Amino acid sequence: MAVEIGVQTFYHFINGKWEPSVNGETFDVLNPATGELVARVAKGTAEDVDRAVKAARDAYDQGDWKNMKPGDRANVLNLIAYQITEHAEELIFLESVSSGGTVRRIKSNDILQMADLFQTMAKFIVEYPFSEALPVPSFPGPAQSFIWREPIGVCAAVTPWNLPMVIATWKIAPALAMGNTIVLKPASYTPLSTLKLAEIISNVVPPGVINVVSGPGDEVGEALVTHPQVDKVAFTGSTEVGRRIMSFASGTVKKTTLELGGKSPNILLEDADLELALPGSLFGVFLHSGQLCESGTRLFVPDKIYEKVVEGLVALASKLKLGNPLDPSTDVGPVISKKQKETILSYIEAGKKEGATLALGGKEVQVPGCKKGHFIAPTIFTNVTNDMKIAKEEIFGPVLSVIRYSHLEEAIRMANDTIYGLAAGVWTRDVNQAYEVARKLQAGVVWINDWHMLRSDAPFGGYKQSGIGREMGKDSLDAYTQVKHVYTSMASELDRRPWYGILFGENEGRGEA
Ligand code: NDP
Repeated sequence: MAVEIGVQTFYHFINGKWEPSVNGETFDVLNPATGELVARVAKGTAEDVDRAVKAARDAYDQGDWKNMKPGDRANVLNLIAYQITEHAEELIFLESVSSGGTVRRIKSNDILQMADLFQTMAKFIVEYPFSEALPVPSFPGPAQSFIWREPIGVCAAVTPWNLPMVIATWKIAPALAMGNTIVLKPASYTPLSTLKLAEIISNVVPPGVINVVSGPGDEVGEALVTHPQVDKVAFTGSTEVGRRIMSFASGTVKKTTLELGGKSPNILLEDADLELALPGSLFGVFLHSGQLCESGTRLFVPDKIYEKVVEGLVALASKLKLGNPLDPSTDVGPVISKKQKETILSYIEAGKKEGATLALGGKEVQVPGCKKGHFIAPTIFTNVTNDMKIAKEEIFGPVLSVIRYSHLEEAIRMANDTIYGLAAGVWTRDVNQAYEVARKLQAGVVWINDWHMLRSDAPFGGYKQSGIGREMGKDSLDAYTQVKHVYTSMASELDRRPWYGILFGENEGRGEA
């Protein structure tokens, strides 16, 4: 990292070193809470991507990383976890001042989650079936077969601005665990923590195993996901860009995993413990100002308790304190940018126009000491119907739509009536009923009496247009693996080979060609 007087400049991280862009250009990273310049970052081009991919390719093809014994690689993953906690303070700061995430959340969740993921992957690979012997089959003939699971090669990751570090580790940890090398393209609003993370990881992995190139998605991102030397692409972001990435990757048939948008339904049952369900539902939607793909943005409430629930939600949500995310007393920070703020405000206008009732918020807020920040008050719309724009489209802001229902089946039908299927939730005291509802919900994760609970050992990903593949859990290792079948015939005589009679006929003898 080169240091200028006043503002730091972050370069690309390529082959274990900080490298400026070939053309010397940089772009600014601003603090969404204050509008202040946080850092300058090297603005990459296709040429910089090429340098990073070559470094990753060489490290994969010629380096020892992929050949390390799983136990040795597990030790390295545990060291990475340790390095993350050792450098936590700097990571928390960089993450907060660029993404607007509260230090309270990043410190008490993100850092722990990242370290836990590397430790979990370390445990998994010690037991992973890298080589598996199959039983001798009766068909097609006596043979000794092995299934070998091997790394894919050079992986590319394109990541978003909402949880930059956490989402980067969802890709880095399984990729490295399986012996791959990786090149990341972080979001242009938030490259800092990913760059720092790469430096930290490079303390314990060989040069070229992890590389980061920053710069615009339509240039650096596209150059990366279309690069002929890249074998796999992992993307998190909007469904729109996800579709493009999928089509780009198809050019050279790269293996692809996508984690995309959501419009997650949260169903309250009549018997729900409201002391728990109301703060829990607000946590589900307002954490990180609603800028989480799995936020519970549609709350389905039965007729019988509708008024009581709305009253309780409004009372609780009005207590949330907006502020600078660096201040530990802040509950809700800013949204990422002026553009995102305007998008969210336009959704709020659409909600009003379509006839939903604005029960709380619905406007921009000026936070003292954060004059140029982008803050939106936690917003609750009631009398929303499931066909309104605010109930159908991903807003990615602090906006909750409360939808009324009469019968549980109606709530489940509306919950599933979306192009998305990332997360869902149900609040009830009746566990059996909760499982029954969970079985009917079309989502990659269902929380019962909770929200946002992601585990490193459980898969996360979407049904329908919320994505392809899973991150975390054992499934994520498979996503960074290719499978080889090695077959050794146990029939030493030619005429005991099953294919002999197929090609040469039953009456043909050996050596009579
Ligand atoms: P994008 O999907 O545009 O950005 C995600 C990542 O993709 C960024 O690194 C971006 O780079 C990169 N990118 C953009 N265009 C391309 C491209 N053509 N080829 C390769 N990479 C590309 O998200 P936005 O930042 O524009 O946010 C828009 C909406 O997306 C949000 O309002 C929200 O609804 C949704 N979203 C969903 C997320 C999720 O976790 N599922 C996360 C973030 C956003 P760059 O930053 O340089 O543009």
